[in-house]
Amino acid sequence: MISYSKEKRAKTDYCNICGKFSELTWDHVPPQSCFNEYNTKFNGLFDGLPEEDKFKGLQQNGIRYRSICSNCNNNLLGSNYDPELNIFTKSVKELMVSSIKLPSKILVSVKVNKLARAVCGHLLAAKNFYDSEILIDKKLRKYFLNPELQPPQGMSLLIRIYPYSTIIVMRDAFIAKLGNSSIKFPSGVISIISAYPIAYILSGKGENCGLLDLFTYCTSDIEQSVEIPIDFYSCFYPNTHEFRNLAWPCNISDEPDGAGMLLGYGHTLDQSIIGIRDLKLPK
Ligand SMILES: [Zn+2]
Repeated sequence: MISYSKEKRAKTDYCNICGKFSELTWDHVPPQSCFNEYNTKFNGLFDGLPEEDKFKGLQQNGIRYRSICSNCNNNLLGSNYDPELNIFTKSVKELMVSSIKLPSKILVSVKVNKLARAVCGHLLAAKNFYDSEILIDKKLRKYFLNPELQPPQGMSLLIRIYPYSTIIVMRDAFIAKLGNSSIKFPSGVISIISAYPIAYILSGKGENCGLLDLFTYCTSDIEQSVEIPIDFYSCFYPNTHEFRNLAWPCNISDEPDGAGMLLGYGHTLDQSIIGIRDLKLPK
């Protein structure tokens, strides 16, 4: 069952980021400028891909959540951090569509502390309620709100090239592999925002699955630019030319690359969604 669009949240409630009791505003996850500005039909993540006339919900002008106050939305995310996420998204997209044959890794200069905070802010926003219980959100809030802090200990923010038109947003799940497949899955509690051209996976530390961990490039200087080696082969499983499943690491199936089990942690799994941008519908 999906409660994503049906579950009414009070218009005034605790902001998912700063916790202040305020009028809530809509946050696009990911931001509109990251190709999340189209009408998007969606299903619950575990109900499968939305089909032509079989989908549970439609979000006009992109996937969004009414979950954060206007200060967090417009000033902190919108002015301070989203511009870096937008620049990074466009840079990677430009490289992907260039006609030059790419080497597997290209250095991209980015203000990584701003980029990481943008992703963490949108992950916090991607819930229909203020989660006062889960430790992850407490750590993410503290990190997001203090520009001098290093990323939370024991957590990773993995990135992979995501060459799909789907958008997946999922919060708080444990994933277990069954059988003896060689495909690896991130450890700990996992949350994801997967949208062309990059998927972000917040996880526990321990298993990087062959992916770059953005948090390892972060520093205490919010303005610092660093060069990040973007791995254009991260769309494949390591050392293969086999595309990672579009839902990886949430692809629960009996297929050789499928995860065996996914357990929700907290109350957010039924809010997880898989959406497809619908360019045919009027904006
Ligand atoms: Zn706020």
